Amino acid sequence: MNEFYWNAIYLIFFMILMFTRIIYAKRYKKIEKNRSVKKKREEFLVLIVSIGMMIIPLIGVFTNFFINFRINLGDNIRWMGVFLFGISAILFWWVHKTLGDNWSPMLEIQKNHTLIKSGPYKLVRHPMYTQVWLWVICQWLILSNWFIGIAGFISWGLLYFIRVNDEEKMMIDEFGDEYRNYMKNTKKIIPWIY
Ligand code: SAH
Repeated sequence: MNEFYWNAIYLIFFMILMFTRIIYAKRYKKIEKNRSVKKKREEFLVLIVSIGMMIIPLIGVFTNFFINFRINLGDNIRWMGVFLFGISAILFWWVHKTLGDNWSPMLEIQKNHTLIKSGPYKLVRHPMYTQVWLWVICQWLILSNWFIGIAGFISWGLLYFIRVNDEEKMMIDEFGDEYRNYMKNTKKIIPWIY
């Protein structure tokens, strides 16, 4: 299939994800926050992820700058990326809906924060991060480009591995044994495995 169509498929998913995110980002702005952890570092990580996972892929879609990094993944593999991206888009919506006003782009405790253990949070403690890992893999497969793939893996990997333990520590500080028990019954991002 022609690159134009792969780019178009990617853009449709990108817009669906952005649409979901914008709805919750608007709600997030109105909510009073109680506590923020390592705010400057988190802002910096979010900036890096925005560049690596949004700006670089969009440059790849709209220009020929990364044309030399193309890999010829077969159409079947790229379609698998489309299928997985569909699942990840549904997961993204489900997670946002379940987490509701507890969501933050950074490490924060909101004024009326509640600990969510239902829906996708029954399976793993960080289903949104599972979704973002899927997103990184899918955009690499669909756009079939090393540069875009590596930019996604490095920027998201940086945020994930720097943030995840601090996030759990923050949740333990806030919810104590309730979160510790929750940790005993769940894995981080892959059900029953990791
Ligand atoms: N790590 C989670 C949430 C990402 S959003 C996931 O991947 O699904 C980040 C914010 O979510 C953090 O600031 C934290 O306050 C909040 N959070 C994380 N786990 C939560 C949970 N189980 N219940 C409620 N809020 C949670």
